[in-house]
Amino acid sequence: MNKGSVFIISGPSGSGKDTLLVKLFEKCPEIKFSISSVTRNMREGEKEGEKYNFISREKFESMIKNDELLEYNLYVDNYYGTPREPVERAVAENKDVFIEVDVNGAESIRKKLPEAISIFIMPPSFEELKRRLSSRGTETEEIITLRMAAALDEIKRAVEYDYIVVNDDLSTAVEDIISIIRGSKFSIKKQKNLIDEVLLNVKS
Ligand code: ADP
Ligand code: 5GP
Repeated sequence: MNKGSVFIISGPSGSGKDTLLVKLFEKCPEIKFSISSVTRNMREGEKEGEKYNFISREKFESMIKNDELLEYNLYVDNYYGTPREPVERAVAENKDVFIEVDVNGAESIRKKLPEAISIFIMPPSFEELKRRLSSRGTETEEIITLRMAAALDEIKRAVEYDYIVVNDDLSTAVEDIISIIRGSKFSIKKQKNLIDEVLLNVKS
């Protein structure tokens, strides 16, 4: 049976996660995306409810208090969190769902959902990461410096993930993610029941 899976996707800011996910969802529109709640300001080009729900710090803190978040983290002075209900609904409906989180968020989700498959998006080099982050033109120099410092720690923690995809050529990286999705369906994590099903009627 083709049960849905939870995919965790992380990578330093500027590694190309959003660009890759947009291409992935064009090719695989059946995949669900977990919309995060965030307290940072909206960037130019972003829309409410697309990747994020932009909310106040007070509202975020009330979501924490009411246990409405699967995980959350403070990243460069802003809260980012994954609302619990949409992920649980996707899993109940056997849909594949992608959750984009930082390395701490990934650690929390693995503890709660050990079957989740985690993918780290690696830039081709540190220099290229800086170039992409600067050329995106959405952050001040000060924030870029903070994000590059965070990137160093994040890259060191790529070892915690099931897969690393290098985002050098964009189309290749999208195909690599699709291969991981396909391959994951054959994983023992997803097929434990199959063994019992096949052996069910065998008389020993
Ligand atoms: P993230 O979501 O990880 O912060 P983005 O998707 O916003 O990163 O990408 C950061 C910048 O790098 C954007 O300007 C994007 O167009 C560019 N970019 C993404 N992937 C590639 C790639 N494979 N080659 C060159 N530039 C890329
Ligand atoms: P950005 O501000 O560039 O959109 O995201 C900054 C960082 O926050 C990225 O590493 C991104 O993966 C992470 N992030 C986005 N949504 C969430 C979330 O819901 N939870 C956590 N823990 N991190 C998130």
